[in-house]
Amino acid sequence: MDESVLRLFSSTLKKAGYNTTKTRVAVFQCLGAASEPLTMHELYSDLNDTFDRSTLYRIIRMFEKVGIVQRVPTGWKYKLELTDVFVSHHHHAICLKCGKIIPIEENPDLESLINKIADKHNISAINHQLEIQGVCVGCQRP
Ligand SMILES: [Zn+2]
Ligand SMILES: [Zn+2]
Repeated sequence: MDESVLRLFSSTLKKAGYNTTKTRVAVFQCLGAASEPLTMHELYSDLNDTFDRSTLYRIIRMFEKVGIVQRVPTGWKYKLELTDVFVSHHHHAICLKCGKIIPIEENPDLESLINKIADKHNISAINHQLEIQGVCVGCQRP
């Protein structure tokens, strides 16, 4: 992970009144290294049981509160990923059958359309989420 991203991580924690501990860095790096959003369970097993589950839950709740982590809803459940502050802005397409999440890279036309819609409704947009739900190629086969 890039040194500047880690510095940004530390300063985000500091601003919110938290220290940068080894455990918090480990969780952050694990999410940063993942190619797609992770479930709490996947995150836990990726971390190789280096600490207990309740510690991980506490860290994730805090990360959500200070804007480091966001939830990606997948049907009834959700997965976790770093917010746009740390990774480039993108959207997701989600398979409703197997839960696979495909990242959709940033599209300038889409972004400007969303901003125009926000303007039209007199909303100064800070963030947005957009998600395409469907059935992936693998799940379309009979
Ligand atoms: Zn699928
Ligand atoms: Zn967008």
